Amino acid sequence: MVTCYIGVGSNLGDRQDNINTAIKKIMMLKATRVRKISRIIETHPQLGPPQGLYLNAVLEIETEFNPYHLLQELQRIESSLGRIRMVKDGPRTIDLDILTYGDLSINEEALCLPHPRILEREFVLGPLREIAPEVVKRLQNKLKKVTKSMRKPPRKRQRHKVR
Ligand code: AMP
Repeated sequence: MVTCYIGVGSNLGDRQDNINTAIKKIMMLKATRVRKISRIIETHPQLGPPQGLYLNAVLEIETEFNPYHLLQELQRIESSLGRIRMVKDGPRTIDLDILTYGDLSINEEALCLPHPRILEREFVLGPLREIAPEVVKRLQNKLKKVTKSMRKPPRKRQRHKVR
């Protein structure tokens, strides 16, 4: 079982009902347990076209699915709740993101872990900090290390003697 954090958001239709239904569907997934649910908060959209306020929450789950299978299951739940991708970052009945999957790092367009924008999004950070403050600290430390290593001047190339 791997511990994962899932970001949940909705700003179309009955937002509260969409979030409750998504959580119920995640609870019903095989080989998966929902361990913690943060409070649901109302937030202003940070990206995309002008649109209504969001409700956001974060879940802690444990799953036996590999990350690609988990993403597929979450996308299936999004579709079952009528999610249609029309405009990038546009309004949505439900949005389910894998924020972290254990300590795993993946950097692919279809699956990026940890989710690359967690630390910039207060609507994710707030609920995540509420249920897993140690995870937020771990991510912040990781980011600090990456930024520090990017600031180091590149190592000089070794010169080889010409004989
Ligand atoms: P969105 O429209 O914000 O739900 O973005 C969905 C797209 O992001 C899908 O094509 C996913 O394959 C991709 N994606 C990349 N990393 C993740 C992740 N950690 N969680 C969810 N979707 C992801």
